[in-house]
Amino acid sequence: MKIHEYQAKEVLRRFGVPTPRGIPCTNVDEALKAAQSLGGKVWVVKAQIHAGGRGKGGGVKVAKSIDEVKKYATQILGMQLVTHQTGPEGQKVRRLLVEEGADIKKELYVAMLVDRVTQRVTLMASAEGGMDIEEVAAKHPEKIFRVTIDPATGLLAADATDVARKLGIPDAAHAQASAVFQGLYRAFVETDASLAEINPLIVTGAGQIVALDGKFDFDGNALFRHPDILAMRDLDEEDPSEVEASKFDLNYISLDGNIGCLVNGAGLAMATMDTIKLYGGSPANFLDVGGGATTEKVTEAFKIMLRKPDLKAILVNIFGGIMKCDTIAQGVVAAAREVKFAVPLVVRMKGTNEELGKKILADSGLPIIGANNMAEAGERVVAAARAH
Ligand code: ADP
Ligand code: MG
Repeated sequence: MKIHEYQAKEVLRRFGVPTPRGIPCTNVDEALKAAQSLGGKVWVVKAQIHAGGRGKGGGVKVAKSIDEVKKYATQILGMQLVTHQTGPEGQKVRRLLVEEGADIKKELYVAMLVDRVTQRVTLMASAEGGMDIEEVAAKHPEKIFRVTIDPATGLLAADATDVARKLGIPDAAHAQASAVFQGLYRAFVETDASLAEINPLIVTGAGQIVALDGKFDFDGNALFRHPDILAMRDLDEEDPSEVEASKFDLNYISLDGNIGCLVNGAGLAMATMDTIKLYGGSPANFLDVGGGATTEKVTEAFKIMLRKPDLKAILVNIFGGIMKCDTIAQGVVAAAREVKFAVPLVVRMKGTNEELGKKILADSGLPIIGANNMAEAGERVVAAARAH
């Protein structure tokens, strides 16, 4: 689960990481009041969406007067902000953060993430902050420093100070920078994050270390023990189909193809998507209905897939193990009765109660295209999508 920058900064402050003072707003009036109550002469008006690269996309503006705050707030609120992380359709801006302008001397990068090779939390830092870290990693990997953190000790002060030195932070600010790195590590661990990133972390003209941006990604499976974090969820920022699917405990990811896939088991779902690709098609979604799916769940899964306006065909690929083929067949029939199917449906079923499942489908009178194996299923669904 992702959160907004203003929320990430709230989390960071809890762990002692300094941030500029700022106020989240949802309309221009609030933005003006926010700027007035913050005081000062320079404010930054920042679009709040769950994607980075807002600066380059025109979603972060420095205002040097209250009039400019008004101008930028009006401009940014409601805009369809396109960044390299939103995709070409962009994301609608519903919220702003009005923040005091910082005096930036140097922009740095620091993040905590899990390194799969060492299986440990790793601090990643670079003196090349502010810009795309992917680009730095690709072109100048030597400019990224890493510290593998031992969970028994946490981030040691000596290691944190060493990073501060490598980043070229002035000596006088080493203690402050170390505290920020250690705070970020604690924030990562204590909130069950999978990513905690500050880009840029700045050194101010006065030599202070301040987080100017903040990004967290939290492990969805651990959210049950963080009600305060879960309360920060913003459903407006999430794919509506994925939100709907999560209510029914379905593992659903929207993709940009046009062949819907209803599969049980993540591995089979991956193989099904590969097979569709192999035959020249493109999956509309990843969907694992799980081992304990009921007829109701299967019906909901169909409804979610059918919401996609450019859907051309559906492939149901079931291996009946814990999940029985007749349950899926009943779900298919129930869904077809409840929602009108305008697209061809290819079904491949193997395993427990296979014959019973096939009989239910045959007796239903639905125009279902059968398939006996993965290859046939892939070939037939791609052909059906093309013909549709
Ligand atoms: P994004 O990463 O989505 O582009 P950031 O919050 O990192 O958004 O902002 C982009 C850039 O805008 C920063 O690298 C920094 O140069 C500038 N900026 C952001 N917030 C402030 C602030 N409070 N004061 C001054 N400059 C800022
Ligand atoms: Mg940033």
